[in-house]
Amino acid sequence: MTKQEVLERARELGVQFVRLQFTDILGVMKNVAIPVQSLPKALNGEIMFDGSSIEGFVRIEEEDMYLDPDPDTFQVFPWSQPEARTARLMCDIKNPDGSPFAGCPRSALKRVLQEARDMGYQVMVGPEPEFFLFQYDKEGKPTVKTTDEAGYFDLSPVDLGEDARREIVLALEAMGFEIEATHHEVAPGQHEIDFRQADALVTADNIATFRFVVRTVARKNGFHATFMPKPIAGVNGSGLHLHQSLYQGGDNAFSDPKQPNGLSRVMLRYISGLMAHAKAFTAITNPLINSYKRLVPGYEAPVYIAWSMANRSPMIRVPASRGAGTRIELRSPDPSCNPYLALAVTIRAGLDGLKHKYEIPAPITRNIYRMHESERRELGIENLPESLAEALDHLENDPVVWEALGDHIASRFIEAKRVEWDVYRHEVHDWELEQYLSVY
Ligand code: GLU
Ligand code: MG
Ligand code: MG
Repeated sequence: MTKQEVLERARELGVQFVRLQFTDILGVMKNVAIPVQSLPKALNGEIMFDGSSIEGFVRIEEEDMYLDPDPDTFQVFPWSQPEARTARLMCDIKNPDGSPFAGCPRSALKRVLQEARDMGYQVMVGPEPEFFLFQYDKEGKPTVKTTDEAGYFDLSPVDLGEDARREIVLALEAMGFEIEATHHEVAPGQHEIDFRQADALVTADNIATFRFVVRTVARKNGFHATFMPKPIAGVNGSGLHLHQSLYQGGDNAFSDPKQPNGLSRVMLRYISGLMAHAKAFTAITNPLINSYKRLVPGYEAPVYIAWSMANRSPMIRVPASRGAGTRIELRSPDPSCNPYLALAVTIRAGLDGLKHKYEIPAPITRNIYRMHESERRELGIENLPESLAEALDHLENDPVVWEALGDHIASRFIEAKRVEWDVYRHEVHDWELEQYLSVY
């Protein structure tokens, strides 16, 4: 869409307000709302905001920032009332001189995608976000109670969660999402909505939009939607599997019918890059202390840095489809991540495999969860980081992942996350009291 087309669409649809959206370094979506009269000014990148109020953006003494909306991201919120019809535009953050702001996650992803284009590739990504729908208590606070606890075998359970999910899908479709599949997940109250693969930048925008739409529509239906990776111990957590492939001139560069299994060298090299940088990018793809409670054996979430054709225990799986649908499924990321940064670091890691020719590890055919530690050691299978602190150490020592983020984002991300870890470290948790209070 051109700027002119956005103005015409806004007029046709009777839009009254426009929200200029962007995400901060920690992946939280922010808004500046403007009346439609200011839309021409906004489209020219003339709307300013005070960056000092936004996590990780600027310090007080630094200059104001400008929002530069991407006309292709113009969408109307289907739930907005006709008299207050509201649309949104996704924005890049610019410095006053018009250059991309070093703390803008969307610009960081664009830099990596430009690198891919310079190598001749378009990066396609299809996401599989999972989430929980929980009930509110009487005071309106979210709980971890679900409505489908009644049990698996109830013939016609009134699963209010499924009704809410249908509404969510309708809202997403009204906003231009192409939904591929939607289903209840393994845990009570857990759902998944998969949308069609698209260019990596579009997918990052889609994931950011998705989380906001899911939360908004769930709330309208009386549910609290959460993308917290592991809200309940003992049942599956929520992942954000990312299906990735490289295209070259309309052809899938991961497909090569002449090679064994139909998988191209490019794909194997991409996998080798992902594996080489996995420990470092995990800090970005799994950014919460809670993220590491999901990455444990037994809940369909990966624990080991390995790849496989079918088995779901390793970090990377190659789904069965071949030809144009040939792709890898990166299973470690979780839906609490900043989607721009998660795509920037994982794609950059994969591209590094194309450049540096790491040794390509053999696929693992067995269930790694069931292997003895000595067997894993013999096969050279390493673990993903076990904690946020460990992942941050790896991030600090990986120049490729660091560079994908840029100094500004990398240093501020680490600073914020070290504080988070320290606060956690100072707490005494219920588990410790239960284990130790009476025994010692
Ligand atoms: N919920 C699982 C995870 O934590 C994934 C289940 C699946 O394979 O879809 O990644
Ligand atoms: Mg799933
Ligand atoms: Mg999956």
